[in-house]
Amino acid sequence: MTGGAGFLGSHLCDRLIADDSFVLCLDNYFSGSKNNVKHLLGNPNFQIIEHDITLPIHVEVDEIYHLACPASPVHYQSDPVRTVKTNVHGTINILGLAKRLKARVLQASTSEVYGDPEIHPQPESYFGRVNPIGPRACYDEGKRCAETLFFDYQRQHGLAIKVARIFNTFGPRMQPDDGRVVSNFIVQALKNRPITIYGDGSQTRSFCYVSDLIEGLVALMQTPADFLGPVNLGNPGEFTMRELAEQVITLTASKSTLSYHPLPEDDPVQRRPDISLAMQALGWKPTIPLSDGLIQTIPYFQKVLR
Ligand code: UDP
Repeated sequence: MTGGAGFLGSHLCDRLIADDSFVLCLDNYFSGSKNNVKHLLGNPNFQIIEHDITLPIHVEVDEIYHLACPASPVHYQSDPVRTVKTNVHGTINILGLAKRLKARVLQASTSEVYGDPEIHPQPESYFGRVNPIGPRACYDEGKRCAETLFFDYQRQHGLAIKVARIFNTFGPRMQPDDGRVVSNFIVQALKNRPITIYGDGSQTRSFCYVSDLIEGLVALMQTPADFLGPVNLGNPGEFTMRELAEQVITLTASKSTLSYHPLPEDDPVQRRPDISLAMQALGWKPTIPLSDGLIQTIPYFQKVLR
Protein backbone atom coordinates (compact mmCIF):
# COMPACT_ATOMS: atom_id res chain seq x y z
CA MET A 1 0.00 0.00 0.00
CA THR A 2 1.34 3.39 -0.92
CA GLY A 3 0.37 6.11 1.53
CA GLY A 4 -0.21 3.45 4.18
CA ALA A 5 0.44 5.82 7.08
CA GLY A 6 -2.18 8.31 5.91
CA PHE A 7 -5.73 8.77 7.11
CA LEU A 8 -7.34 6.30 4.67
CA GLY A 9 -4.24 4.14 4.28
CA SER A 10 -3.91 3.36 7.97
CA HIS A 11 -7.57 2.32 8.23
CA LEU A 12 -7.13 0.13 5.16
CA CYS A 13 -4.03 -1.47 6.78
CA ASP A 14 -6.14 -2.32 9.84
CA ARG A 15 -8.86 -3.80 7.68
CA LEU A 16 -6.51 -5.95 5.58
CA ILE A 17 -4.49 -7.16 8.55
CA ALA A 18 -7.70 -8.11 10.37
CA ASP A 19 -8.40 -10.20 7.28
CA ASP A 20 -5.03 -11.97 7.70
CA SER A 21 -3.23 -10.28 4.83
CA PHE A 22 0.40 -9.27 5.01
CA VAL A 23 0.62 -5.53 4.42
CA LEU A 24 3.71 -3.70 3.24
CA CYS A 25 3.31 0.07 3.49
CA LEU A 26 5.23 2.77 1.75
CA ASP A 27 4.97 6.30 3.07
CA ASN A 28 7.21 9.36 2.98
CA TYR A 29 5.35 10.93 5.95
CA PHE A 30 4.64 14.13 4.02
CA SER A 31 1.05 14.13 5.22
CA GLY A 32 0.90 10.62 6.73
CA SER A 33 2.08 9.92 10.25
CA LYS A 34 3.73 6.98 11.99
CA ASN A 35 1.26 7.60 14.81
CA ASN A 36 -1.54 6.31 12.56
CA VAL A 37 0.08 2.88 12.35
CA LYS A 38 2.04 2.68 15.60
CA HIS A 39 -0.34 0.03 16.96
CA LEU A 40 0.69 -2.17 14.00
CA LEU A 41 4.45 -1.74 14.28
CA GLY A 42 5.13 -5.03 16.15
CA ASN A 43 2.67 -7.03 14.08
CA PRO A 44 4.39 -9.76 12.02
CA ASN A 45 1.88 -9.15 9.21
CA PHE A 46 2.85 -5.50 8.91
CA GLN A 47 5.90 -3.72 7.57
CA ILE A 48 6.44 -0.06 6.75
CA ILE A 49 9.19 1.45 4.62
CA GLU A 50 9.87 5.18 4.54
CA HIS A 51 9.85 5.78 0.80
CA ASP A 52 8.88 8.54 -1.61
CA ILE A 53 7.10 6.93 -4.57
CA THR A 54 8.52 9.48 -6.98
CA LEU A 55 11.56 7.17 -6.77
CA PRO A 56 11.28 3.59 -8.06
CA ILE A 57 11.08 0.70 -5.62
CA HIS A 58 11.41 -3.08 -5.92
CA VAL A 59 9.32 -5.14 -3.53
CA GLU A 60 7.35 -8.38 -3.88
CA VAL A 61 3.56 -8.16 -3.45
CA ASP A 62 0.52 -9.47 -5.28
CA GLU A 63 -1.92 -6.59 -4.81
CA ILE A 64 -1.23 -2.85 -4.71
CA TYR A 65 -3.45 -0.19 -3.19
CA HIS A 66 -2.10 3.11 -4.49
CA LEU A 67 -3.18 5.82 -2.05
CA ALA A 68 -0.09 8.03 -1.75
CA CYS A 69 -0.81 11.72 -2.27
CA PRO A 70 -1.70 14.53 0.12
CA ALA A 71 -5.47 15.08 -0.17
CA SER A 72 -6.06 18.27 1.78
CA PRO A 73 -5.85 21.48 -0.29
CA VAL A 74 -3.59 23.00 2.39
CA HIS A 75 -1.13 20.12 2.02
CA TYR A 76 -1.27 19.54 -1.73
CA GLN A 77 -1.00 23.27 -2.49
CA SER A 78 1.98 23.77 -0.17
CA ASP A 79 4.25 22.13 -2.78
CA PRO A 80 2.18 21.85 -5.96
CA VAL A 81 5.03 20.65 -8.18
CA ARG A 82 5.65 17.81 -5.77
CA THR A 83 1.93 16.98 -5.84
CA VAL A 84 2.06 16.61 -9.62
CA LYS A 85 5.25 14.52 -9.38
CA THR A 86 3.63 12.23 -6.81
CA ASN A 87 0.63 11.68 -9.07
CA VAL A 88 2.52 11.33 -12.33
CA HIS A 89 6.06 10.05 -11.63
CA GLY A 90 4.81 8.22 -8.53
CA THR A 91 1.99 6.54 -10.40
CA ILE A 92 4.32 5.53 -13.27
CA ASN A 93 6.64 3.91 -10.72
CA ILE A 94 3.78 2.04 -9.07
CA LEU A 95 2.33 0.89 -12.40
CA GLY A 96 5.81 -0.24 -13.46
CA LEU A 97 6.01 -2.25 -10.26
CA ALA A 98 2.56 -3.76 -10.87
CA LYS A 99 3.60 -4.65 -14.42
CA ARG A 100 6.75 -6.45 -13.26
CA LEU A 101 4.87 -8.31 -10.52
CA LYS A 102 1.69 -8.93 -12.56
CA ALA A 103 -0.06 -7.54 -9.48
CA ARG A 104 -3.58 -6.21 -9.33
CA VAL A 105 -3.36 -2.44 -8.73
CA LEU A 106 -6.03 -0.09 -7.38
CA GLN A 107 -5.91 3.66 -7.80
CA ALA A 108 -7.34 5.91 -5.11
CA SER A 109 -8.67 8.55 -7.47
CA THR A 110 -10.95 11.34 -6.43
CA SER A 111 -14.19 13.21 -6.97
CA GLU A 112 -11.87 16.13 -7.78
CA VAL A 113 -11.59 14.71 -11.30
CA TYR A 114 -15.10 16.19 -11.76
CA GLY A 115 -13.83 19.67 -10.76
CA ASP A 116 -16.65 22.19 -10.35
CA PRO A 117 -19.34 20.00 -11.94
CA GLU A 118 -22.23 21.09 -14.19
CA ILE A 119 -23.91 17.71 -13.75
CA HIS A 120 -25.43 16.78 -10.44
CA PRO A 121 -25.06 14.22 -8.90
CA GLN A 122 -21.91 13.13 -10.69
CA PRO A 123 -21.93 9.79 -12.57
CA GLU A 124 -18.67 8.16 -13.66
CA SER A 125 -19.51 8.98 -17.30
CA TYR A 126 -19.17 12.72 -16.60
CA PHE A 127 -15.82 14.03 -17.90
CA GLY A 128 -15.61 16.86 -15.39
CA ARG A 129 -14.88 20.57 -15.42
CA VAL A 130 -11.41 21.24 -14.07
CA ASN A 131 -9.46 24.47 -14.41
CA PRO A 132 -6.11 23.15 -15.67
CA ILE A 133 -4.12 26.18 -14.46
CA GLY A 134 -5.80 26.94 -11.14
CA PRO A 135 -4.48 26.32 -7.61
CA ARG A 136 -6.34 22.98 -7.33
CA ALA A 137 -5.02 21.72 -10.68
CA CYS A 138 -1.88 20.11 -9.23
CA TYR A 139 -4.16 17.67 -7.43
CA ASP A 140 -7.12 17.49 -9.82
CA GLU A 141 -5.11 17.23 -13.02
CA GLY A 142 -2.50 15.08 -11.26
CA LYS A 143 -5.22 12.58 -10.33
CA ARG A 144 -6.77 12.80 -13.80
CA CYS A 145 -3.39 12.00 -15.36
CA ALA A 146 -2.97 9.11 -12.90
CA GLU A 147 -6.29 7.69 -14.16
CA THR A 148 -5.04 8.12 -17.75
CA LEU A 149 -1.87 6.22 -16.86
CA PHE A 150 -3.87 3.42 -15.24
CA PHE A 151 -6.03 2.94 -18.32
CA ASP A 152 -3.09 3.25 -20.74
CA TYR A 153 -1.10 0.64 -18.79
CA GLN A 154 -4.19 -1.57 -18.87
CA ARG A 155 -4.69 -1.18 -22.64
CA GLN A 156 -0.98 -1.27 -23.54
CA HIS A 157 0.38 -3.80 -21.06
CA GLY A 158 -2.71 -5.72 -19.92
CA LEU A 159 -2.43 -4.62 -16.30
CA ALA A 160 -5.15 -5.67 -13.87
CA ILE A 161 -6.37 -2.25 -12.77
CA LYS A 162 -9.15 -0.88 -10.55
CA VAL A 163 -9.96 2.82 -10.22
CA ALA A 164 -12.01 4.27 -7.34
CA ARG A 165 -13.16 7.88 -7.34
CA ILE A 166 -13.28 8.73 -3.66
CA PHE A 167 -15.56 11.51 -2.43
CA ASN A 168 -14.97 13.47 0.80
CA THR A 169 -14.28 11.04 3.62
CA PHE A 170 -13.89 11.71 7.34
CA GLY A 171 -13.24 9.94 10.60
CA PRO A 172 -10.64 9.34 13.30
CA ARG A 173 -6.97 9.89 12.29
CA MET A 174 -7.72 12.97 10.23
CA GLN A 175 -5.12 15.50 11.23
CA PRO A 176 -6.50 18.33 13.39
CA ASP A 177 -4.57 20.92 11.35
CA ASP A 178 -5.08 19.53 7.84
CA GLY A 179 -7.47 22.34 6.90
CA ARG A 180 -10.28 20.01 5.81
CA VAL A 181 -13.75 21.19 6.63
CA VAL A 182 -14.67 18.36 9.02
CA SER A 183 -11.45 18.57 11.03
CA ASN A 184 -11.51 22.38 11.09
CA PHE A 185 -15.13 22.59 12.26
CA ILE A 186 -14.80 19.93 14.97
CA VAL A 187 -11.57 21.42 16.35
CA GLN A 188 -13.04 24.93 16.29
CA ALA A 189 -16.26 23.76 17.97
CA LEU A 190 -14.39 21.88 20.69
CA LYS A 191 -12.36 25.01 21.42
CA ASN A 192 -15.49 27.22 21.32
CA ARG A 193 -13.79 29.27 18.61
CA PRO A 194 -15.57 30.75 15.57
CA ILE A 195 -16.41 28.21 12.86
CA THR A 196 -14.70 29.36 9.66
CA ILE A 197 -17.20 29.19 6.80
CA TYR A 198 -15.65 29.90 3.40
CA GLY A 199 -17.97 31.80 1.09
CA ASP A 200 -21.60 31.93 2.20
CA GLY A 201 -21.54 28.27 3.24
CA SER A 202 -24.11 27.24 0.64
CA GLN A 203 -21.63 25.03 -1.25
CA THR A 204 -22.29 21.33 -0.74
CA ARG A 205 -20.25 18.21 -0.10
CA SER A 206 -21.12 14.58 0.56
CA PHE A 207 -19.29 13.04 3.49
CA CYS A 208 -18.56 9.34 3.78
CA TYR A 209 -17.52 7.79 7.08
CA VAL A 210 -14.12 6.14 6.81
CA SER A 211 -15.18 2.55 7.63
CA ASP A 212 -17.76 2.62 4.83
CA LEU A 213 -15.20 3.89 2.36
CA ILE A 214 -12.66 1.22 3.30
CA GLU A 215 -15.23 -1.53 2.70
CA GLY A 216 -15.81 -0.04 -0.76
CA LEU A 217 -12.09 -0.15 -1.59
CA VAL A 218 -11.78 -3.76 -0.45
CA ALA A 219 -14.89 -4.75 -2.41
CA LEU A 220 -13.51 -3.04 -5.52
CA MET A 221 -10.19 -4.90 -5.28
CA GLN A 222 -12.15 -8.17 -5.19
CA THR A 223 -14.28 -7.52 -8.28
CA PRO A 224 -13.82 -9.76 -11.36
CA ALA A 225 -10.84 -8.96 -13.60
CA ASP A 226 -13.00 -7.36 -16.28
CA PHE A 227 -14.34 -4.68 -13.90
CA LEU A 228 -11.90 -1.78 -14.03
CA GLY A 229 -13.97 1.18 -12.91
CA PRO A 230 -13.76 4.06 -12.51
CA VAL A 231 -16.34 3.73 -9.77
CA ASN A 232 -17.57 6.44 -7.41
CA LEU A 233 -17.20 5.68 -3.70
CA GLY A 234 -18.89 8.12 -1.37
CA ASN A 235 -21.98 8.82 0.67
CA PRO A 236 -24.73 10.44 -1.41
CA GLY A 237 -26.06 12.40 1.58
CA GLU A 238 -25.43 16.03 0.57
CA PHE A 239 -24.97 18.92 3.01
CA THR A 240 -24.17 22.60 2.78
CA MET A 241 -21.17 23.74 4.82
CA ARG A 242 -23.58 25.76 6.99
CA GLU A 243 -25.57 22.60 7.74
CA LEU A 244 -22.36 20.77 8.59
CA ALA A 245 -21.33 23.60 10.94
CA GLU A 246 -24.71 23.51 12.68
CA GLN A 247 -24.53 19.73 13.16
CA VAL A 248 -21.03 19.95 14.59
CA ILE A 249 -22.01 22.76 16.97
CA THR A 250 -25.02 20.77 18.21
CA LEU A 251 -23.13 17.49 18.64
CA THR A 252 -20.28 19.14 20.54
CA ALA A 253 -22.61 21.38 22.59
CA SER A 254 -20.31 24.20 21.49
CA LYS A 255 -20.66 27.93 22.07
CA SER A 256 -18.99 28.65 18.72
CA THR A 257 -20.48 31.18 16.33
CA LEU A 258 -20.15 31.19 12.55
CA SER A 259 -17.54 33.45 10.93
CA TYR A 260 -17.47 34.02 7.17
CA HIS A 261 -14.28 34.12 5.08
CA PRO A 262 -13.50 34.40 1.36
CA LEU A 263 -14.19 31.32 -0.75
CA PRO A 264 -10.93 29.76 -2.03
CA GLU A 265 -10.37 29.98 -5.79
CA ASP A 266 -12.00 27.20 -7.86
CA ASP A 267 -13.82 25.80 -4.81
CA PRO A 268 -16.51 23.46 -6.24
CA VAL A 269 -20.08 24.66 -5.64
CA GLN A 270 -21.71 21.27 -5.29
CA ARG A 271 -20.70 17.66 -5.09
CA ARG A 272 -22.60 14.42 -4.64
CA PRO A 273 -21.75 10.98 -5.96
CA ASP A 274 -24.06 8.92 -8.11
CA ILE A 275 -23.28 5.52 -6.57
CA SER A 276 -25.50 3.34 -8.82
CA LEU A 277 -22.46 1.64 -10.33
CA ALA A 278 -20.89 0.86 -6.93
CA MET A 279 -24.17 -0.59 -5.70
CA GLN A 280 -24.54 -2.77 -8.77
CA ALA A 281 -20.92 -3.86 -9.39
CA LEU A 282 -19.62 -3.99 -5.80
CA GLY A 283 -22.84 -4.65 -3.90
CA TRP A 284 -21.70 -1.71 -1.77
CA LYS A 285 -23.36 1.29 -0.26
CA PRO A 286 -22.53 3.42 2.77
CA THR A 287 -24.31 2.57 6.01
CA ILE A 288 -23.23 5.39 8.36
CA PRO A 289 -25.02 8.74 8.08
CA LEU A 290 -23.11 11.98 8.64
CA SER A 291 -24.41 12.54 12.18
CA ASP A 292 -23.41 9.01 13.33
CA GLY A 293 -19.99 9.42 11.77
CA LEU A 294 -19.52 12.76 13.50
CA ILE A 295 -20.50 11.18 16.83
CA GLN A 296 -17.73 8.60 16.29
CA THR A 297 -15.19 11.19 15.17
CA ILE A 298 -15.64 13.90 17.82
CA PRO A 299 -14.14 11.79 20.70
CA TYR A 300 -11.01 11.21 18.58
CA PHE A 301 -10.48 14.97 18.19
CA GLN A 302 -11.20 15.49 21.90
CA LYS A 303 -8.39 13.03 22.66
CA VAL A 304 -5.99 14.63 20.18
CA LEU A 305 -6.64 18.10 21.62
CA ARG A 306 -6.01 16.85 25.18
N1 UDP B 1 -14.42 24.89 4.08
C1 UDP B 1 -14.99 25.82 4.95
N2 UDP B 1 -14.31 26.10 6.10
C2 UDP B 1 -13.15 25.49 6.45
C3 UDP B 1 -12.59 24.53 5.56
C4 UDP B 1 -13.26 24.27 4.37
O1 UDP B 1 -16.06 26.39 4.70
O2 UDP B 1 -12.62 25.79 7.52
C5 UDP B 1 -15.16 24.58 2.83
C6 UDP B 1 -14.31 24.60 1.57
O3 UDP B 1 -14.28 25.92 1.03
C7 UDP B 1 -15.07 23.63 0.69
C8 UDP B 1 -15.64 22.61 1.67
O4 UDP B 1 -15.60 23.24 2.95
O5 UDP B 1 -16.16 24.29 0.06
C9 UDP B 1 -14.84 21.33 1.72
O6 UDP B 1 -13.48 21.63 1.91
P1 UDP B 1 -12.37 20.53 2.10
O7 UDP B 1 -11.04 21.19 2.02
O8 UDP B 1 -12.65 19.72 3.31
O9 UDP B 1 -12.57 19.52 0.87
P2 UDP B 1 -12.64 19.75 -0.73
O10 UDP B 1 -12.86 21.21 -1.04
O11 UDP B 1 -11.34 19.25 -1.23
O12 UDP B 1 -13.81 18.93 -1.12
